[in-house]
Amino acid sequence: MKAVIIGAGMGGLSAAIALKQLGHDVEVYEQVTENKPVGAAISVWSNGVKCLNHLGLESETAALGGIVDSMSYIDGFTGETMCRFSMQPLIDEVGQRPYPVARAELQLMLMEAYGIDDIHFGMKMVAVSDGEDAATVEFADGSTVSADVVISADGAKSLTREYVLGHSVERRYAGYVNFNGLVEVDEAIGPATEWTTYVGDGKRVSAMPIAGNRFYFFFDVPLPEGQPYERGTAREVLTEHFAGWAPGVQALIAALDPATTNRVEILDLDPFHTWVKGRVAILGDAAHNTTPDIGQGGCSAMEDAVALQFAFRDNPDDVYAALKAYEAARTERAGDLVLRARKRCDVTHAKDPAATDAWYEELRSEDGSRIIGGIVSNIVGGPLT
Ligand code: FAD
Repeated sequence: MKAVIIGAGMGGLSAAIALKQLGHDVEVYEQVTENKPVGAAISVWSNGVKCLNHLGLESETAALGGIVDSMSYIDGFTGETMCRFSMQPLIDEVGQRPYPVARAELQLMLMEAYGIDDIHFGMKMVAVSDGEDAATVEFADGSTVSADVVISADGAKSLTREYVLGHSVERRYAGYVNFNGLVEVDEAIGPATEWTTYVGDGKRVSAMPIAGNRFYFFFDVPLPEGQPYERGTAREVLTEHFAGWAPGVQALIAALDPATTNRVEILDLDPFHTWVKGRVAILGDAAHNTTPDIGQGGCSAMEDAVALQFAFRDNPDDVYAALKAYEAARTERAGDLVLRARKRCDVTHAKDPAATDAWYEELRSEDGSRIIGGIVSNIVGGPLT
């Protein structure tokens, strides 16, 4: 079978590796000309790590991952620790440590595992169509490619989503902006093996370790959509948003590099359950665009890839049956994660300030079990759990 994959993000590359493992002929097409992912890092939760392990990348992933031994929540204004607890019960329950990793390094690992020289860079898909014997993709340079199956992992603004659904959809602004980047580990910000989160007023500041003595950090600020922002001004902007916050937050603002700090408006999309049209399927953010509030968007894309592999393994001679099996295995699970993230997003970012205050109170009496229970319930339910 020949499969064409559109998009060399973490979803497309995971799918490419997964189908290649079955012995299929896989071609990957990507619009950008080099590996330059938007965003600094992601936390790959245990379900995502299990998928990467399944794709043969166990030691590579572990080498990129930060060691998170504990989590803490800190009152953003007073600096008082609201709760601190070990991650070990989570690792014991799900059987895999999560790994925060730098995006560029995760991308490079996946590209190398697939074969970096086999990725067709600079190829922007402009149209896709399904036919009786093959599906065809057309590129901006006028060229076309046909295959038995097209898996489109063309991201949150997916063109293929529209083709598969037969209509366009509007993504929804989730109400906050996320600033993110990498800094050297600094105990003034938080302990080196802890995921530290400062909260207050519906804002959030987090730092977690990744490999190479670095913290991945992010600041969440509830703001109206479409505010002007000049790249390079993160320090001034964050100093204003976090005036009067605890010393750890001020240390982070002082340490960050404004030139490399990203600013992202957070959007998501109502779940939908049609991911396949004939020989064409969507995967990753194209199929389930979530807010990052439970850190599951990329993990879910990796789960898609493994589920796709299982669907083709179980239906080796029938593309249509395989794609339907993939769709059936994934839409409910992925949609559930989108809605869980949306719920978490609203509480974290004070959509209803009373609910957020109640959460802050809960954090003061947290021994870790409620939070870990919540994270475990996000992690389980994929193709490998
Ligand atoms: P993408 O990574 O967007 O890749 C799509 C690729 O397709 C791109 O390379 C793009 O150039 C290419 N493409 C698009 N259109 C075309 C075209 N027409 N022709 C050719 N190529 C095309 N997830 C987690 O699991 N954990 C986290 O902690 C986490 N944190 C996040 C924090 C933030 C601030 C954000 C915004 C997201 C976060 N996510 C996280 C979500 C995660 O980043 C996404 O779910 C993941 O990147 C989806 O991968 P993908 O391959 O589907 O899409």
